[in-house]
Amino acid sequence: MIIILMGAPGVGKGTQSLALSEKLRIPHIAVGDILRKHIKEETDIGKEVGSIMKQGLLVSDITMFDIINQRIHDDDCKNGFILDGFPRTISQADGFERLLTDVGRRITVVFNIESNYKILLDRIKGRIVCKNCGATYHNVYHKPQLDGYCDICEGIITKRKDDTEEIFNSRIEEYNQQTKPLIGFYQQRGILINIDSNDVKENITERLLKHLGANI
Ligand code: AMP
Repeated sequence: MIIILMGAPGVGKGTQSLALSEKLRIPHIAVGDILRKHIKEETDIGKEVGSIMKQGLLVSDITMFDIINQRIHDDDCKNGFILDGFPRTISQADGFERLLTDVGRRITVVFNIESNYKILLDRIKGRIVCKNCGATYHNVYHKPQLDGYCDICEGIITKRKDDTEEIFNSRIEEYNQQTKPLIGFYQQRGILINIDSNDVKENITERLLKHLGANI
């Protein structure tokens, strides 16, 4: 089962990917988290993408394919995986389709999670995340039980550097120009399902699982 979660920044892709990953027992691949790890570890990729990510711009396709190609061939991905944040452009979607075809696999479903600007901005401004497992919280609506520490893994909670209003605006612009066209791309292939995100996260997870016919 190969699932893609797409949607604007702050729409809840990370939260839903983690929930689906737990229920379906397949890994959740958050490309943004992989890139942030490279920055932290000061790898060559990290040095290349640091300033690009700070501006809310997109990293080059070559780098993204290097990361994806390596990760989806890991052993834990053989029964499927959930992609959060990839593909983000038509050329990435095209390349990914070819990559899967070459190994006799195909995308099961693409969930397009929808919301509006005001709600997204509010989420981004209050978003705090676990440095260790990537779980997301909100400093008003969804605080961790123990202030500063993740409920799931006890990792340290932090604020992402790109979660400011200014960078959010450039990420939204990037999303509208580059990522939104993927809606039509996957609609044409008959694998796109639109999901309204304005509900509590448990209900959204339930709806996603229902679409997958998952008997959980
Ligand atoms: P995210 O954690 O998914 O919000 O991604 C954070 C940042 O990582 C984005 O603003 C981009 O700079 C970069 N990024 C993540 N996914 C991609 C992708 N598929 N293509 C290019 N850049 C990406």
